[in-house]
Amino acid sequence: MTSLPDAKLFIDGELRGAEGGKTFDVIGPWTGETVGRAADASAADVEAAIVAARRAFDQTDWSTNIEKRVALVKKLRALFEANKDRLSDLARIEAGAAWGAVGRAHVDMALEGWDDYLAVFPQVRWEKDHGSRIGYGFETVRKAVYEPIGVVAAITPWNVPLYVNVGKVVAALLAGCTLILKPAPDTPGMGAIFGELALEAGFPPGVINVVFGADPALAGEMLVKDPRVDLISFTGSTGVGKRIMEQGAATLKRVFLELGGKSAKIVLDDAPNFAMDVATAMLVFHAGQGCAVHSRLLVPRSRYEEAKAILKHSYASFGENWGVFDDPKHIMGPVISKRQMERVLSYIALGQQEGATLIAGGHARPDKGGGFFIEPTCFADVTNDMRIAQEEIFGPVLVVIPFEDDEDAIRIANESAYGLSGGVCSADLDRALRVAKRIRSGSISVNGGMCIAGDVPFGGYKASGIGREWGLEGIEEFLETKLIAWRAA
Ligand code: NAD
Repeated sequence: MTSLPDAKLFIDGELRGAEGGKTFDVIGPWTGETVGRAADASAADVEAAIVAARRAFDQTDWSTNIEKRVALVKKLRALFEANKDRLSDLARIEAGAAWGAVGRAHVDMALEGWDDYLAVFPQVRWEKDHGSRIGYGFETVRKAVYEPIGVVAAITPWNVPLYVNVGKVVAALLAGCTLILKPAPDTPGMGAIFGELALEAGFPPGVINVVFGADPALAGEMLVKDPRVDLISFTGSTGVGKRIMEQGAATLKRVFLELGGKSAKIVLDDAPNFAMDVATAMLVFHAGQGCAVHSRLLVPRSRYEEAKAILKHSYASFGENWGVFDDPKHIMGPVISKRQMERVLSYIALGQQEGATLIAGGHARPDKGGGFFIEPTCFADVTNDMRIAQEEIFGPVLVVIPFEDDEDAIRIANESAYGLSGGVCSADLDRALRVAKRIRSGSISVNGGMCIAGDVPFGGYKASGIGREWGLEGIEEFLETKLIAWRAA
């Protein structure tokens, strides 16, 4: 496996190491060994990035010159296209994506999402006429104008780093904001490339800044607390999301949060492709490290034994077809880190203590190459009150829960702190839509429909977040409304 180029910070138009020259090692999930080095930003580096972004917003025409920013965003998109091999290497070597997964949630889907943003951008409404109104004995004419919110801090996770970085960076830039991108310490390279290519594209200094460091919280907390940062766009765990809301309260920060999930796929008793619908619930893609994955499978009690048999067979057929770096057919590799592996294994132990039955997997697999490998794992005999059914595991662990009827399925799906996504399968579309409408989640797939794409909004109910990313709504998240009223002559 090749090692990655050094990940450099990008601050005020300059690609550079950290002040003082500190670096940290990037550990590859496939081997557990060092695959690259990244600059370890200090507080002074973060401060410099904030100053640069603030200046670029307040003192340049970035926020008002739409043609200029669309042209630069398109130029940057072309450079990302030209660097697809590098992006693919980063997704695989740094984020642990299996080769067969790169095209989906990683590189291709992210770049398609970028194109979707550009396609919906002309629909952004910059003004709205509110007509005139007589009051206090005279007439007033009113108009709303929509303005970029200012300096954005985009704080992102490691699981699908390019997709999430594009989701925030491209929308904020198109809206006219300046930004500081702060990727996770596990995936600094997928952030650093934004700096490198922004420099090549000729972005004005300060419009895009990229900072990262070994400490997961240092830069993020500075950005959240700083009054010069107007909005935090965060994707990550619900725990950190809550802390961001708390810490942002002092400066009444705008916060946009994309958080965790424990989404339910409901296969109703009349599902025409019951076996296929159950089998495709296997949580193996990118080792289950997706916020919107369906990590609870709900099946009718009347067909529970049948579903268990289908899953046992599917997991057995999947067998060893995972965890090989060079196999383009594989869609599952390791989990991101030792810490994450230990966390997932502790949930597997917990599931057994709680009385659930392991019907597949359940073990670490260091024999796959020294990295952080966990077998595709499935628990049956799960009740929805178990912690393995309530907490986000973020690994290749599916739990299977029986339900009595449609009402019971809806109740179980909704008895969750989260509300990010989900699915319903039935031969009767009306029945499936009735159930889908009652699930309290930000998106839901019916009969396998794709509810995630760059031209439609994505986000969570309840503890899964606040606000929407992607699509027109995703760009409008970065705008403020100003109402202007003038007295008619
Ligand atoms: P995380 O919350 O640990 O970290 C996310 C980011 O926040 C990282 O950049 C990290 O360095 C930073 N951070 C950590 N502590 C911070 C603090 N105190 N203040 C500010 N920033 C801080 O999440 P993770 O482990 O990187 O990613 C996994 C989580 O992300 C899962 O819960 C998953 O569901 C969620 N996720 C959600 C979505 C979504 O769209 N809803 C998408 C992908 C991942």
